[in-house]
Amino acid sequence: MKIVLASSNEHKVKEINEISLGEGIEFILPPPDFEPIEDGNTFEENSFIKAKEAWKLTKTWTLADDSGLCIDSLGGRPGIHSARYAETPQKRIERVLKEMEGIENRKAHFACCMTLINPEGNVEFSCTGVCGGSITFETRGKNGFGYDPIFLVENSQKTMAELSDDEKNHVSHRFRALREVLAYINKENG
Ligand code: IMP
Repeated sequence: MKIVLASSNEHKVKEINEISLGEGIEFILPPPDFEPIEDGNTFEENSFIKAKEAWKLTKTWTLADDSGLCIDSLGGRPGIHSARYAETPQKRIERVLKEMEGIENRKAHFACCMTLINPEGNVEFSCTGVCGGSITFETRGKNGFGYDPIFLVENSQKTMAELSDDEKNHVSHRFRALREVLAYINKENG
């Protein structure tokens, strides 16, 4: 089965392909003119916008992921603004650490909402995966992407960036959401 993965973030595409290895699904990229306007107010809305935009261009199965980091003591920020919180990944991390200065409650989670749209253009399935943790005081680790170096994974001594790709792909918010999507697809296909 081929599914268009409505994303232009190559790290996410890589993770999603690794997680679904051996599932009999080939994720393919949307055409180059895929430029969704992510103006939703929630991960769910933005995930739907991306999946629908990819469907309009391909009229086939599409899966979109919208994800981000939510920090309790910042009222859920950066949340849906995660990708644009500052100009570069490094500056985004610096901004978060600055905003967290002097704050004791470091609790946070990554969330990932996935929306699967069928060839008729209707939402077939959607779900959200969450990975709990906390924000460190400084960066640690070199793997992964985005906020991984400042996200200490719950019940672990490591940041996401200190986990191997394989380890991350067994605990991440994206893994948890994708597992539900794959279970749904497998159930439907008997
Ligand atoms: P999206 O591409 O609009 O869904 O934005 C996702 C943004 O959230 C990314 O650009 C990262 O900044 C952040 N993010 C999402 N998932 C992860 C992750 O697994 N690790 C680190 N940062 C993430």
